[in-house]
Amino acid sequence: MRTDRSRVPETDICDLCARRLTDGCRLGLVQDSSAIHTRTPARDGRRLVVACSPEHLAVLQQEYRARPYVPEELWAGQIDRAQALQPPPPTREALAAATGLSPLEIQRALAWKKHRNWQLRDEDPRTPEVG
Ligand SMILES: [Zn+2]
Repeated sequence: MRTDRSRVPETDICDLCARRLTDGCRLGLVQDSSAIHTRTPARDGRRLVVACSPEHLAVLQQEYRARPYVPEELWAGQIDRAQALQPPPPTREALAAATGLSPLEIQRALAWKKHRNWQLRDEDPRTPEVG
């Protein structure tokens, strides 16, 4: 039987070196405030990383440990998910109910998002203004 290696899904590569994972892989969970799960809020803030070797898994885990964990980034992602599920945009009360965030967390997340959008716009003038 012929195997078509060009059809290996992109997820079957090492997150560090992009080597195809033909001889098994190493999995690890890392803290990542940009990781928002599409359907399971309990998995927010954690990212599954895949590596070809224990050494590459250790490098990936170290990179994520060195990356700042920004609660406002996590909350902004949770707000984005709630808004995507409930068009038109919900009220802040509905947003609080949908995300489990407090009004203060929602306010901080929206401020963080606005600040980030300003930064992105400064870096790339093609970025549309949001929020
Ligand atoms: Zn690798």
